[in-house]
Amino acid sequence: MVKNLLRILLICWSIVSMECHAQDSIAYDAFFQDQALRIELFLFGTGSDLKVVPGKIVQEPIWPGPRNQLVFPFPYGKNAIRVYDLDSDRLIYSFGFDTLYSEYATTEPASQGKWKAFPISVRFPKPKSRFRIEFLSRRKDNHWETIWSESMKPSDKNIRREGVDLGDTVFELQKTGDPNDRLDLVFLAEGYTDSEKEKFHADAQRMTQYMFEHEPFRRHRGKFNVSAVFRPSSESGVDEPDQRRYRNTALGASFNTLEIDRYLLTDQGHTLREYAAQVPYDSVVVLVNSKRYGGGAICLDYCVSTVDDPKSEAVFLHEFAHSIAYLADEYIGSVTYNDIYPEGVEPVEPNITRELDPAKIKWKDALTTGVPLPTPKDFGAATQETASIVGAFEGGGYLKTGMYRPEKSCAMGSGLDPFRFCIVCEKAIEQMIEYYAPSTDK
Ligand SMILES: [Zn+2]
Repeated sequence: MVKNLLRILLICWSIVSMECHAQDSIAYDAFFQDQALRIELFLFGTGSDLKVVPGKIVQEPIWPGPRNQLVFPFPYGKNAIRVYDLDSDRLIYSFGFDTLYSEYATTEPASQGKWKAFPISVRFPKPKSRFRIEFLSRRKDNHWETIWSESMKPSDKNIRREGVDLGDTVFELQKTGDPNDRLDLVFLAEGYTDSEKEKFHADAQRMTQYMFEHEPFRRHRGKFNVSAVFRPSSESGVDEPDQRRYRNTALGASFNTLEIDRYLLTDQGHTLREYAAQVPYDSVVVLVNSKRYGGGAICLDYCVSTVDDPKSEAVFLHEFAHSIAYLADEYIGSVTYNDIYPEGVEPVEPNITRELDPAKIKWKDALTTGVPLPTPKDFGAATQETASIVGAFEGGGYLKTGMYRPEKSCAMGSGLDPFRFCIVCEKAIEQMIEYYAPSTDK
């Protein structure tokens, strides 16, 4: 009990301290140039150890991300980067995100000490002066730990400054404004051969259209730039290790990630960002040319979906909601990663909670008046109002008990048809759209 209380205090403290940083607004032009820097990192880890080793550093022509919220205003991410100005020792940029490592760390092989490598890329606006970059990881109690840090000079000759154009085909699907104040979404082709270029273009258009048919994307359509980059794969399709079927593709995406059938990701985190960097982007979606049901998301990094299953559009939007807004899965079910939401620790995801106090629950402003917490499954059934009741329904984050979701049904749960986000998820997506595409800048 005391231990849990301490954990909760620690979490509150880290959230408060992040908010304090956020109030300290950083003038972009005082600290940053127009370009971005991308660092390729190799994460090596077991269940209890993590090493981070840097690879190459690349300059990208523009920083398309937010310029007025340089310190990440959300508590999201199992990992984070922080950039400090060395002269003033001031925090000038931060961003939280997930990595596949943090899921791997909870699996059986990892807990038995088996090492595995995960290449990832991190990106931030290019500082004007000497800076220090830190890579942080959350411990189980949600407290941050610095794993790697290095000081650098923006004038360093080892920063690669070659052009970002790799000769791939770029399709512009929607352009509404400057990348700096828009949410720039890029689709990447995976498993399409040269002769399937137009199919990819049509698939990306179909996914874009589906997204803008659903709230909150529909009402914020004008805040998005959408593009698609095509790189031919030498073979059509994707790796399906459980079928012993392998394809040579642009990103080497594969089903059976972490031994889960439908879990489809790529292990080429360096190639992924190099491929995407041919256009200004904030968020990456990999479209996999396959009829099989599947997808995956690494929150605030990228997501993947197949395109030709009858449910592919819904899977895409579900995965994109994970990767853009740090939403948790609201469904219950078995996954190979264990203990992803440790007991007694309030998850940082906006749409699941362990809290049942109506004065403290994170979606307290959205609660239906007089709703009991926890909320019985059939609450409101007599008045046929169940669809719009916001309470705390038991089951979420793969857990059957002890974890609660805001509404009975949501697209982050198993309710893909009809596709509708609950009010809490909708709000969380909206906040993230606002982060990338602030209304005040119009
Ligand atoms: Zn939801």
